[in-house]
Amino acid sequence: MPELPEVEVVRRGLADHLVGRTVTGVEVLHPRAARRHAAGDADLIGQILGATVASAERRGKFLWLPLVHGGEPPGVLGGEPPDLPGVLGGETPDTAVVVHLGMSGQMLFGEGVDTHLRIRVRLDDGTLLRFVDQRTFGGWAVDPLVEVDGAALPASVAHIARDPLDPAFDRAAVVAAMKRKNTEVKRVLLDQTVVSGIGNIYADEALWRSRLHGRRLASALTRPALGRLLDDATAVMREALDQGGTSFDSLYVNVNGQSGYFERSLNAYGRDGEPCRRCGAIMRREQFMNRGSHFCPHCQTVPRR
Ligand SMILES: [Zn+2]
Repeated sequence: MPELPEVEVVRRGLADHLVGRTVTGVEVLHPRAARRHAAGDADLIGQILGATVASAERRGKFLWLPLVHGGEPPGVLGGEPPDLPGVLGGETPDTAVVVHLGMSGQMLFGEGVDTHLRIRVRLDDGTLLRFVDQRTFGGWAVDPLVEVDGAALPASVAHIARDPLDPAFDRAAVVAAMKRKNTEVKRVLLDQTVVSGIGNIYADEALWRSRLHGRRLASALTRPALGRLLDDATAVMREALDQGGTSFDSLYVNVNGQSGYFERSLNAYGRDGEPCRRCGAIMRREQFMNRGSHFCPHCQTVPRR
């Protein structure tokens, strides 16, 4: 599943192409692409058709497009995106298309021939938006927007904590929440209700930078150590974002179909059997939460049970 940087790359592309545009056509070409929309694909189409995209939003790994229904056509705004997210022509969005990228979902603009085309959307400027998803773990759903702690979130995202790139991210509160967790610190980093956006790749990178083994107990670490770990996770995700994200099999792409290249800069993830770039010890991989954890046994001392 793409993590924060890969999803943010997609969000930026959607913001550039979609905001202020009205949907003039929708086709769902594979039932799995609409399976998260409980009312079915016909209802999904009905909720999107004729709506105007107010903004492109993200929290953690979640991506959504707030919709305005029956508002003024975007032409009255002269094509300029609104300054305030969520406000278009004086109307406040009350629903949003939640876009789940899954393992391989791609949001692509322009005409194209795709073997795995799942949803096709035509916009009022003639642009075509294609949702292509080889492994079909992704899909779209329309959700009502609910207000949570000053943010308008799709109902299915309401339980997700703010991510470190959110301007309202409360670092001290998150460090305190981490400190209260009497469980492995990697598990806490991956807990999207504590801090969102971090998945297996950036958790391993942050732990390597902080010289912490992921099986250390969060509650046994000092607040400064937890704060540094959070800062390391934030820094590595910002660096990945600057390089267009990480892609291992060319399936994570921006809206132009291009992959990021941050995998060249990874220090831990996928480097088992190779020398640690800090101390030269051979990196290791172990099973954790049904995934692989990659670490340096010298820099990141394995905790004793
Ligand atoms: Zn090392």
